[in-house]
Amino acid sequence: SNHRAYNFNAGPSALPLEVLEKAQKELTNFRGTGMSIMEMSHRSAAFEEVHNGAISRLRKLYSISDEYEVLFLQGGASLQFSMIPMNFLKAGQKAGYVMSGSWSEKAIKEAKLFGEPYQVASTKENQYRNIPSLENIEFNSEDAYVHVTSNNTIYGTQWSKFPNTGDVPLIADMSSDIMSKPVDVNQFGMIYAGAQKNLGPSGVTVVIVRKDLLEKANTEIPTILKYSTHADNNSLYNTPPTFGIYMLGEVLNWIEEKGGLEAVAKNNEEKANLIYDAIDDSNGFYTGHATLESRSLMNITFRVADEKLEKQFLVEAAEAGFVGLAGHRSVGGCRASTYNAVPVEACQALREFMIEFQSSNS
Ligand code: PMP
Repeated sequence: SNHRAYNFNAGPSALPLEVLEKAQKELTNFRGTGMSIMEMSHRSAAFEEVHNGAISRLRKLYSISDEYEVLFLQGGASLQFSMIPMNFLKAGQKAGYVMSGSWSEKAIKEAKLFGEPYQVASTKENQYRNIPSLENIEFNSEDAYVHVTSNNTIYGTQWSKFPNTGDVPLIADMSSDIMSKPVDVNQFGMIYAGAQKNLGPSGVTVVIVRKDLLEKANTEIPTILKYSTHADNNSLYNTPPTFGIYMLGEVLNWIEEKGGLEAVAKNNEEKANLIYDAIDDSNGFYTGHATLESRSLMNITFRVADEKLEKQFLVEAAEAGFVGLAGHRSVGGCRASTYNAVPVEACQALREFMIEFQSSNS
């Protein structure tokens, strides 16, 4: 079929149609160069313009000050799980990890190889239905950093307000909610995210890191794994994922054209509420996984109360053109990922499908 699917994939996920069409137009002859962006040197003037344009748009959208570096790396958010402790944790030193899902677990696992990470708080016993409350937690000023996962892609929970960690740098894995709303970057020592949900194709990882952390970082580590290497070389130390950076720049441009992060946030709230309302108004036919106050506007996780009907729901949804609604393989259930580029029409259509499915099956 020719039409665009209702794409609720968790990542890689929907990209803006306008961006895809522009990329298609520019594919074989990029702005008069006679070649695609993938076929030219990463040192060429045409690519450098794309590269620096993407960095400056990112800086502008998040109002990032000169105290921070913006880096484009590879290896996904998963490599950051290792690079963070490798650069910032010294042997015997502690770092706090807030456990709010599987990605936090993967992050702390890597830190154990370099120092002594500890769990600041965890909601595992509550099946990660909520973000831990940190109001009464005192952060140890000796800690190298505190790590949080801002949006838990698998469980469908999201921080609405970040803890004040004082002088201890706060590091956030924002893989699944970066650029989905305005954020005060100054609260963080570092923010990182794989691009493949809100920002573009997989293969690029965005790192926003405060310069003073780089100055204090460990030096006895491989060159390519030092943040300072990439900072000193404007993320062009080695060949970067050029096509991905081009796409990322175009997605940021699209965000600007949509009215910036305030507008995007408003749209995301409206989209998520269409689906959450269908859950909440179902008299228990659908049940949300996350507690109300921890609900994510990016990943909406729910069950169909009757297990047999849940299978049927997923089959019929797929037949009706909805893609990516099965929950993560580790938890089952259903999940609708409503990242920036998922149109409101797709959420409206899913809402109607859910209501219709309920009335035919109860
Ligand atoms: N952190 C979060 C919150 C994620 O959602 C994911 C991927 N789904 C990762 C980390 C891992 O990212 P990557 O596949 O880019 O390594």
